[in-house]
This record gives sequence, C-alpha cells and structure tokens, in this order.
Amino acid sequence: MSDVLNFHENCVFCKIIKGDIPSTKVYEDNLCYAFRDINPQAPTHILVVPKAHIQSVAEVSSKNEALVGHMFTVIAKIARDEGLEGGYRVISNCGPDAGQTVPHLHFHILGGAKMGERMV
Ligand code: 5GP
Ligand code: ZN
Repeated sequence: MSDVLNFHENCVFCKIIKGDIPSTKVYEDNLCYAFRDINPQAPTHILVVPKAHIQSVAEVSSKNEALVGHMFTVIAKIARDEGLEGGYRVISNCGPDAGQTVPHLHFHILGGAKMGERMV
C-alpha cells in the first residue's frame, strides 16, 4: 500500500501524517492515522484519516473500499479505547456544501457528551 501513499504537498493532513505539522496521535497503522482535532467540538473529537491522499467520500470506489472499511474497524477500536460507551457520532463532510475545509478524506469521531438528537 505504501506505493500509493502519494502525499499532496500542500495538504494539511498529508503534512500531519508525515510529521511536518505536529499532532496528538491517538492511533496509527500502515494504512491510517488518527489524531485529536485542534478545535474540538465535543469532549472527545478525533479525526481518522487514510495515509493515502483521498480527497473525500466522493473519491471512495471499489479501488479503495477495503481501506475505508478498515478505517471503520479503527473507528470502532478507538471509540472503545476512548471509553465512549455512551455512544458517539461519526461524520465526514464531503465537498463545499457540507463545509469540508480540508480536502483529505477524514472521519470525525465525536463523543463524551450527550449530543443533539438530530444533525440535519
Ligand atoms: P472538515 O471541516 O473538513 O470536516 O474538518 C476539518 C477538521 O480539521 C476541523 O475540525 C479542524 O478543526 C481540523 N483541523 C484543521 N487543521 C488542523 C490541524 O492542523 N491540526 C489538527 N489537529 N486538526 C486540524
Ligand atoms: Zn492529503
């Protein structure tokens, strides 16, 4: 998989994965990296990103679906390790209408407090 890592030079999350921008690591394996959001929206707010630069959910396809499935295994493990027994929310903003600000696929894990009943 490392041959398809294709870091993007000006991508904040590619820089975080490389270690060029510091981050608080929560989990790492050869396929993905998880770290605490710099501007947390809940007591626990973690971002899970693939090491390969994929722009958003819109770029998920049969070519990378195994990687994305793996990311959800990692999300469930992180939630257990973080003690989010009460539940948590997983969000991925895709594109400008959804307010995606970093064009590198990421899943937000939000938890640690009772959230509003509805997102939309
Ligand atoms: P989006 O708005 O694209 O769904 O989410 C991007 C998230 O990345 C935001 O919640 C923002 O706080 C977080 N973020 C942006 N830059 C950095 C950074 O340099 N470090 C960390 N830890 N989080 C960042
Ligand atoms: Zn990137």
